[in-house]
Amino acid sequence: MSETKYIFVTGGVASSLGKGIIAASLGKLLQARGFNITIQKFDPYINIDPGTLNPYEHGECYVTEDGKETDLDLGHYERFTGIKTTQYNNYTTGRIYQSVIDKERRGDYLGKTIQVIPHITDEIKRAMLYMGKKHHYDFVITEIGGTVGDIEGQPFLEAIRQLKWELGKNALTIHLTYVPYLAAAKELKTKPTQHSVKELQHVGIQPDMLVLRAEHHLSASLRAKVAAFCNVDADAVVQSLDVPSIYEVPLRMQEQGLDTTVLRKFGMEIGETPSLGPWRSFLERRNKSKETVDIALVGKYDLQDAYKSILEALSQAGTYNDFKVKTHYVNSEKLTADNVGEMLGKMHGVVICPGFGQRGIEGKIVATKYCRENNKPTFGICLGMQMMVIEFARNVLGYADANSVEMDQKTAHNVIDIMESQKNITNMGGTMRLGGYECKLRAGSLARDIYGSEFVSERHRHRYEFNSEYISEFEKAGMQCVGINPESSLVEIVEIPTLSWFIGTQFHPEYTSTVLKPNPLFLSFVKAAITYKGKKA
Ligand code: GLN
Repeated sequence: MSETKYIFVTGGVASSLGKGIIAASLGKLLQARGFNITIQKFDPYINIDPGTLNPYEHGECYVTEDGKETDLDLGHYERFTGIKTTQYNNYTTGRIYQSVIDKERRGDYLGKTIQVIPHITDEIKRAMLYMGKKHHYDFVITEIGGTVGDIEGQPFLEAIRQLKWELGKNALTIHLTYVPYLAAAKELKTKPTQHSVKELQHVGIQPDMLVLRAEHHLSASLRAKVAAFCNVDADAVVQSLDVPSIYEVPLRMQEQGLDTTVLRKFGMEIGETPSLGPWRSFLERRNKSKETVDIALVGKYDLQDAYKSILEALSQAGTYNDFKVKTHYVNSEKLTADNVGEMLGKMHGVVICPGFGQRGIEGKIVATKYCRENNKPTFGICLGMQMMVIEFARNVLGYADANSVEMDQKTAHNVIDIMESQKNITNMGGTMRLGGYECKLRAGSLARDIYGSEFVSERHRHRYEFNSEYISEFEKAGMQCVGINPESSLVEIVEIPTLSWFIGTQFHPEYTSTVLKPNPLFLSFVKAAITYKGKKA
């Protein structure tokens, strides 16, 4: 067996250049060549994980199968490669320090003074190598969050510097930068890239390859200039232009030989170029679909990163239904009984989004009522499902004060209650019901029909649950609890069978939806929205 090769991806000049997409695309290309790969992310912030972060800070929190709250880039890794990530695919500075401090308290360091170098950097290196050692991957791609020059990123860069030295021919670094276009001068500027590479060289890292993000085509001579100034081979400088879909990026990278340059630099055989057949078919289908279906996302965040996986799952489902999904953010804080018709009337389907806390929930309930009464395809996810339950309790069962104890601890009708296992928890970080759990689907239900199997496993992230004391009352009145966890008996799915598509899931099906294996619930929901559109027309 050959030794694991490590590829480190760093970024410079600006954040949000799409390092995660480049890492995921490279992973995809190597995977298509038959290699066994994984992709991991190291985030320099101090939080132990992003679970406690507001989505305004770092976008959505992505949950792995094994129940770790992680960075949203792991979602890209899974959607591109179909490979499941784990708790070992995402580390933060906080998590690294926590483990070093735990060791110090245990006395593991035998009287030594604990320092950033070597103790923190050793811990980072151990974590960076862990997946490769444990699973003998052919390639481990490691993305470093933030941009070079950030103070908190320094220990990670130092760890990479040391690993490059120790791993020798088995390590390689790719640096992603940005080449701005100055409209007034009509010129593309490479100086920020040169400075960014200097910053890396300053900490002892010579990048082996450069990916230049740009909004305008970068000529071969410009790339050659960058190569010469940055001590990088000319063929190791590729451009990454804006594309209509992030899923085009692997193809653009393949055309420029990102993967073949990697293989050549590792001294490996190049072999045949993989056709990426299914991936191309997906993109062709996507480009062919012209007609749009309008889906509202009812939630309190109106930024795209907050609901990343939901957006991607909807857009994948659109492609597989030969439609383009046009999503519309509907701020739940602004929704009232008076304006709901205006805000949602033209929509062909409505997603009631996940979330935490009181803010915006009354608007979600208003939206749910409107959708239920107008038989609009409606998909409630996690908090969205809980809102469906509360709305039903208030307006169908007649419990005006029905609520979740998350919002109202004293409600007499706690149709959404705290989970037994959550009652004594005082620490908020990493303590929710997290990760994949099995769900048994009732025969004859729409959910069962959609999944086509009796058991499914989906990922969770919640503290509250459907209060099982109310199950029979709900069922008699028409809301069915059709998905139940076989071990804990928790209600995982509710639906109203008399409506055309009205499903709420306590789990987050968006996390398992990938390009080549879209989630069945999203496929079916978008299909129902398209049917609704057809009927309305
Ligand atoms: N706040 C709700 C709970 O904790 C729902 C969480 C979510 O939507 N992810 O149960």
